[in-house]
Amino acid sequence: MNRSLRQLPILPLPMEQRTSPPNSGNHSTSAKTNYPYDALVDSLGRIHSSLRLSVIDRCNLRCQYCMPAEDVTFLPSQQWLPFPMVARLVQILARCGVHKVRLTGGEPLMRPGLADLVRRLNQIEPSLEIALTTNGMLLADQVEGLRQAGLDRLNISLDTLSESTFQRLTRRPGLPRVLQGIDAAINCGIPSKLNALILRGINEQEIIPLVEFAASRQLAIRFIEFMPLDADRAWTQQSVVQGEEIRQTIERHFGSLQPVDRVDPSQPAEDYRLPGGTEIGWIDSVSKPFCAACNRLRLTAEGRMRNCLFGREEWDLSELLRSQADEEQILQVVRDCVAAKHPSHGIDRKDFQPPPRAMYQIGG
Ligand code: SAM
Ligand code: SF4
Repeated sequence: MNRSLRQLPILPLPMEQRTSPPNSGNHSTSAKTNYPYDALVDSLGRIHSSLRLSVIDRCNLRCQYCMPAEDVTFLPSQQWLPFPMVARLVQILARCGVHKVRLTGGEPLMRPGLADLVRRLNQIEPSLEIALTTNGMLLADQVEGLRQAGLDRLNISLDTLSESTFQRLTRRPGLPRVLQGIDAAINCGIPSKLNALILRGINEQEIIPLVEFAASRQLAIRFIEFMPLDADRAWTQQSVVQGEEIRQTIERHFGSLQPVDRVDPSQPAEDYRLPGGTEIGWIDSVSKPFCAACNRLRLTAEGRMRNCLFGREEWDLSELLRSQADEEQILQVVRDCVAAKHPSHGIDRKDFQPPPRAMYQIGG
């Protein structure tokens, strides 16, 4: 890495010093806010305030719904966007009103020094909410360091409580390590939720045990519908266990669920409560798309910006960031990306084509 870049100071400017906001001049994609720069608004008026930040495409599991079983080609580590550049970009985005960053991958805990990134992000923007999605395999060892660095929230993926089903789904052993990671997260006090994905014919029998497990640990659990982002291209509408079917299974077993008021309209999950108080959410991206309220931008591990999981275009920021380009130039590319966002992902259209990259390469 270029030494002078690593040494670039990344410090928040006091509001009164933040003058001459870079602006594309295209007012359909920007709007005045209390932040120093105009907000990132697309042609449908959707304000972008949340960033999914992939830090790596590698993973220690090979989930069927995400990665191929064998022969995966990963990015060489030199192509990972270095953390000082990630932090610079996040700082620019934060000045446009992005106030939430979720670290993801691949498996984000496989990126060396992740806690340093969390610490750096906290230093540049103390008000930023920093969350992490992980498969939990490396969590027991890292969670305390992440807490100390200022991680605010954790989502831990758990699709089964049976080791044989775990191995079938992820093509690797490891359930006990994931469970240790979950308990370590609870013990260290970072607010945590579980993410579960149910695949037809593989883990439907796990729905009730997963809810019981969540209740036993007093954790919220969210069921995510399987989306056509698997590297194997095995997705079909029939392979999706829809949220409604899962809800009925849970209500048959536990009784009626009470809806929980949605505080943040851009939040994709519909949350309910079990009679005992456990929160259960649904992210029904396939059967009930929430594109109209989407507020997300995505950055791939090598530094390409995307405006949608299903988009076919990417806006490369790595060259600009690596060459220490001006803030104006970087922001212009971000605004171009936002302006090009489509109204919806279009999974339900007859001519739908999945994006060329799979979930682990984009960042889920
Ligand atoms: N490796 C970490 C993990 O599994 O939590 C973070 C990255 S993973 C891509 C983030 C989330 O995406 C996980 O909760 C996973 O279940 C979900 N996911 C992966 N492939 C998916 C797909 N095809 N459809 C829906 N969700 C998917
Ligand atoms: Fe790895 Fe997460 Fe993809 Fe599973 S879903 S293969 S854990 S990146």
